[in-house]
Amino acid sequence: MKLIDSHCHLDSDQFNEDREAVIERALAAGVERMLAIGSGDGPPDVEVAIRLADRYPMLYASIGVHPHDASKATVETYRQFAELAKHPKVVGVGEIGLDYHYDHSPRDVQRDVFAEQMRIASDARKPIIIHSREAWSDTMTLVRKHWNPAYGGVIHCFTEGPAEAREALDLGFHISFSGVVTFAKATGVQEAARIVPQDRLLVETDAPFLAPVPHRGKRNEPAYVVQTARKVAGLRGAPVEDIAAITIANFERLFLAEASPGSV
Ligand SMILES: [Zn+2]
Repeated sequence: MKLIDSHCHLDSDQFNEDREAVIERALAAGVERMLAIGSGDGPPDVEVAIRLADRYPMLYASIGVHPHDASKATVETYRQFAELAKHPKVVGVGEIGLDYHYDHSPRDVQRDVFAEQMRIASDARKPIIIHSREAWSDTMTLVRKHWNPAYGGVIHCFTEGPAEAREALDLGFHISFSGVVTFAKATGVQEAARIVPQDRLLVETDAPFLAPVPHRGKRNEPAYVVQTARKVAGLRGAPVEDIAAITIANFERLFLAEASPGSV
């Protein structure tokens, strides 16, 4: 069985000792491709994922300022993004969005930086990868205003319930489930995993964070996306092989197909 991890942070310090081995284990587990998220520790270094994707053929890269780092974004950051978006392995802009849980950057700054990056994604004709924590209604308000659905997008590490999933689906988003869906108390997320249409479903690890059961509490790694796919399959009453095939096809259509305006 083959799978794709649609969201992982392989640049994390937590992989410094054994990054090669982590990637080898992923491949051995059938996780044949991974999207390395480029947020890193924020600007000025916005190429963390590109450096990995240049080195490893099975990795794709994104570029983006995480809401935590919104205060570090400058005009120079945006200028770099416009350039880096042309790199052949850069497949999306993210993770971008709003995080009102930690509030590491002021909320008005988060909103401005999120909006600006949606404009950059539109200009580059790339899908967006959204991080939204305790900020759902502001996130939806801003995407309605600034996002171009023609180029696609995903709500990454979905932690809301079915109503929010429907709202995002109506706007044209894909929904990506992480290890959170395997947590016993995450009943709303599990309910959402049942109702997402087949052609909008993705799975991810968000490694090194949020390891799925039975690895919960330990460092996460892309090989563990298998556990999340199994859980989603169980919730939907589908064979895990089907979920694997579906999420690969969705990833390829969202991130690897040449976008054309009006395709949604
Ligand atoms: Zn992430």
